[in-house]
Amino acid sequence: MEKITEYFGSMVFDERVMKATLSEKVYKSLKRTIDRGVPLDISVADAVAAAMKDWAIELGATHYTHWFQPMTGVTAEKHDSFISPAPDGRVIMEFSGKELVKGEPDASSFPSGGLRATFEARGYTAWDPTSYAFIKDGTLYIPTAFCSYTGEALDKKVPLLRSMEALNKQAMRILKLFGNDKVRSVKTSVGPEQEYFLVDREMWKKRKDLIMTGRTLFGAMPPKGQEMDDHYFGSIKPRVAEYMADLDKELWKLGILAKTKHNEVAPAQHELAPIYDTTNIAADHNQLTMEVMQKVALRHNLVCLLHEKPFAGVNGSGKHNNWSISTDQGENLLSPGETPAENAQFLLFLAAVIKAVDDYQDLLRLSVATAGNDHRLGANEAPPAVISIFLGDELTAVLDAIEADKPYGGTKKEKMQLGVDVLPKFSKDSTDRNRTSPFAFTGNKFEFRMLGSSNSISCANIHLNAAVAEVLKQFADKLEKAKDFNKALHDLIKKTIKDHKRIIFNGNGYDDAWIKEAEKRGLMNLKTTADAMPHICDKKNVDMLTSHGIFTEAEIYSRRDIMLENYVKTVNIEAVTMTDMARKEIIPAVAKFAADTASAVAVKKSVSKAACKYETKLVTDLSELIDAMDSATTELEDAIAKFKGITEIIKASEFVRDTMIPAMDKLRSAADKAETMTAEDYYPFPTYDKLLFGV
Ligand code: ADP
Ligand code: MG
Repeated sequence: MEKITEYFGSMVFDERVMKATLSEKVYKSLKRTIDRGVPLDISVADAVAAAMKDWAIELGATHYTHWFQPMTGVTAEKHDSFISPAPDGRVIMEFSGKELVKGEPDASSFPSGGLRATFEARGYTAWDPTSYAFIKDGTLYIPTAFCSYTGEALDKKVPLLRSMEALNKQAMRILKLFGNDKVRSVKTSVGPEQEYFLVDREMWKKRKDLIMTGRTLFGAMPPKGQEMDDHYFGSIKPRVAEYMADLDKELWKLGILAKTKHNEVAPAQHELAPIYDTTNIAADHNQLTMEVMQKVALRHNLVCLLHEKPFAGVNGSGKHNNWSISTDQGENLLSPGETPAENAQFLLFLAAVIKAVDDYQDLLRLSVATAGNDHRLGANEAPPAVISIFLGDELTAVLDAIEADKPYGGTKKEKMQLGVDVLPKFSKDSTDRNRTSPFAFTGNKFEFRMLGSSNSISCANIHLNAAVAEVLKQFADKLEKAKDFNKALHDLIKKTIKDHKRIIFNGNGYDDAWIKEAEKRGLMNLKTTADAMPHICDKKNVDMLTSHGIFTEAEIYSRRDIMLENYVKTVNIEAVTMTDMARKEIIPAVAKFAADTASAVAVKKSVSKAACKYETKLVTDLSELIDAMDSATTELEDAIAKFKGITEIIKASEFVRDTMIPAMDKLRSAADKAETMTAEDYYPFPTYDKLLFGV
């Protein structure tokens, strides 16, 4: 057996390879670019490109691609081969610094939300040297940012990098105030826990809904769902175990630190978590992980479903975004310290996150809003659509003490002005209350749990970083001017707790009583994408995002439109798929069963005086359901036709929310009922019991 330590990262142009293949001078220069963003000289770029090409060819690569993350949510790539004609009619393998640094895909079909007129539809890609290049399927992948010619971001990486830079800038100001002079940069890190479902590929092929939309649009609950909780952390079945082993190996080759895998709550549901990394690398790796998960599944005759809600009635899939801020000296700024000064610094960063989450609830909520995730949030499984923070009892008690100007913990030791000299070692709270929270403090990081399984983590982190950067800026503005730093610090933390404690909630987030309580506290409850997305254009959000250079105003409007387009198109495809399945598969199957039963009645009655009570009732009930399905389908068809006529995007999203989705629910409800009454042999595609327990 090959050793993991030998093949881990074998397909990655990482530090080790750079050191081995670049001259000392080129390596140092590249490192300066990676670590400190110093622009790369073209001669250095040429040398790096040549080394990359030789290394890639050695490992069997023939092509290279600028890999980027357009607003579609999935990654994009266009492959060019290294070949270049030689005078003697043969070819040589070439790759220049210019080709490495900048690409020009003819990418006019990617959504730009009106940022590009068609005559200048081309965008360009720019190398992100902070994320390593890698080889996959015979191609050298170069992680890149994607912009328009006028410099607007057309992707999710550019604003993510900008948000990390904004947070770096403001956090550095705060650290200076605490006398932290050694620190040169501050970065955010993320460990995304990824949930997914596996279904048998042969069964998958028989379901148009899974093929077209990634989720089941019909399906009655099987006799057994997740109520026994026997799948959660249960022993992994051999076929799934083989898949997971194969997946780990592929990810490890790509330098992805896949670490934890287990069965999740729902049958056929699983989770994979990597070891956390710098946010932009974590984002690249998560995109890559999702792609590899789906590809490896096919080899095992499985299909990996990343949809947020593949099956109604059992848990959906999310992605937990574990987030922290740390310095280049390795200090985690969200980790309670040992000394009073460290504690004060920790409490300030904590206060900043609390205020940021409260002030920008809407930005966080809408950063995870998609048609798929709307099925989870607030649906009694995932966190509710209301944002709140879980801090646990101990930390909440510390904040209460600060707010009330009372010493915490009762020790008689010298107190700082904050009234807190020693913080308790916060044990990781893994109670159920914690697990229902959308945004939980877990000892030295925050876990943002609202992300959907198929979301790019970039959006959530762009808004989170931006919001925290803004609050740190406000804090730094105040503290830099203060005559008495300690007093100003104390007052600031105290005031922040007082003003923003409404966002702290340590109870059960699934409880209906909480939603009422949240309303009283004035927290936002943005139930759907249609409700949430327009808020990105609220003045306070536009002002904040533009002031930190995260987005231009045009970029913000374009993003709102793209995300809403995505929402309405997704639901529309689902609606059309439903009418198609209802008309061509479900109604004919149920009608055939009803007709066969009816002829059986006729035959039976012709030979005996049997009353045929059972059959008669069945035929009557089925006929009613067939009519109900037919009229619901007609209603949905009408909605689809009306939808086509709506050109304004906000109106379209409201129509989808208020008319299209309720019509879909109506059709589904009739069809699911019919399914439970139709003989299995007649049913046109595999039902939930087979899909969920068939692997
Ligand atoms: P769970 O929440 O399921 O108990 P873990 O405690 O194992 O899971 O952590 C989940 C994720 O959090 C992992 O990806 C892990 O690497 C990541 N993580 C741990 N510490 C940090 C940190 N300081 N910053 C960001 N992510 C972290
Ligand atoms: Mg977790």
